[in-house]
Amino acid sequence: MKSELKRFSVTPSVVPADCESKISIRALDGWMLFYDDVTYEVQIIPADKNELPMDEALSLKGMEQFRETRKVQPKNGVIELTHFFKGEQQWNIRIRTFEHDKHELTTHQMNPKSFGWVMERPEQWSIVSVYSLKEDLYNRRALRGDLHIHTNMTDGDESPALTAATYRQMGYDFAVITDHYFYDIGQYAREKFDFKTDFLLPVGEEIHNGFGGHLHIVNIGSSQSVNEVFRENPERIKKEVEALKEAVDVPENVDEQEYLYRVWVYLEAKRYGGLVIFPHPYWNIEKVRWHVGHEMSMAILKDGLCDAFEIMGGGNAEENNLQTALYYEAQRQGVNLPVVGSTDSHTVLWDGNEFKASTYVFTENSNIKKAVLEGYSVAVEHQPDEKNIRLYGPYRLVRYARFLTDYYFPLHNELCASVGPVLRDYIQGDKSVKPLLEALEQRITDFENRFFGREKE
Ligand SMILES: [Zn+2]
Ligand SMILES: [Zn+2]
Repeated sequence: MKSELKRFSVTPSVVPADCESKISIRALDGWMLFYDDVTYEVQIIPADKNELPMDEALSLKGMEQFRETRKVQPKNGVIELTHFFKGEQQWNIRIRTFEHDKHELTTHQMNPKSFGWVMERPEQWSIVSVYSLKEDLYNRRALRGDLHIHTNMTDGDESPALTAATYRQMGYDFAVITDHYFYDIGQYAREKFDFKTDFLLPVGEEIHNGFGGHLHIVNIGSSQSVNEVFRENPERIKKEVEALKEAVDVPENVDEQEYLYRVWVYLEAKRYGGLVIFPHPYWNIEKVRWHVGHEMSMAILKDGLCDAFEIMGGGNAEENNLQTALYYEAQRQGVNLPVVGSTDSHTVLWDGNEFKASTYVFTENSNIKKAVLEGYSVAVEHQPDEKNIRLYGPYRLVRYARFLTDYYFPLHNELCASVGPVLRDYIQGDKSVKPLLEALEQRITDFENRFFGREKE
């Protein structure tokens, strides 16, 4: 976590673009404190679109001459800034003061020789950041979630409730349980989440064409199960697939039967309003064979047999790398598909190693399915053996998602982590923790509202 997140709070941290907004900066700890009788220098710097003219004074040093420096005085320990935030971008705000002497710690004053450099710290720039957004994004909630999860109701290890609880603990805002062959196993988690929370458990399933089947297709938010049709009415499917032979052009070099079943599954899922996700083509089966050959994968992406591509999965970095290459190749050939990142986890108790991927979805009214369909999603990769977080998706969203990854989600995830043990006790039967659980959940909601400026007046 960036140290400034523990030193300063900025409210709101997200503002609308192309209008004036007021932000409040509070100093949280002794690195630099804000005193009402001290004047501070503040610079508000757009990270991207700068209006500075290009001339010879614009050397690294010369830029200082053109930057507006405000003198501000805190009120009740808070620096308030009103600014016109032009365009969609990150803004970095630098703060320093040369007037802090009167508030120097007595321990420092007693030995100024030893602590001179510490005493001068407020004279160095401290930097905090905000992000300005055009209206469509500004009005959307940023949710982090997983669209592909298994539990012990099929071949996973943990119950739906413990699975969901662990995702909440790991900083997820939603978790879609998509067990093999069965629709809405998430209901068994939902029935235990009978407390006030913003955590979402939408319906889902992973579709296979019969037991021991070959197809793996993730279906989110549909009103009915496609797996159930495979179970209850295989004859109807056979007939309809047969009829598709006449209606559909099967590309060369792909298996006709498999392709037609994929078409059928897609059409059936869409009848029920599902969001169809193509998962893990480079799942390396028994370390000898990829799950879906590249010609079939390309046909699925190009012919619209899915609504979104699971570009980041729970496999290793090599599998994700090949999925990224496949996606770029499809894009080069004119495909424009939303992307998601999902763990496809089968356990949540494996040293946290299963939480390798997630999706940021920018939703209206928390409608995850609709937001992904409209392309408002970013795939996130966090391999457990490295600290870096990588984001994939439309440039504009990735830029914003980078800001959220650095400034929003670390604090959000910390609050979610505090819920973890209490939530686990609750779903395992200790109902006495309900008030505490709801209070901790409320803290997550309150932080989100403050960060995005949705605080009630
Ligand atoms: Zn699968
Ligand atoms: Zn799966």
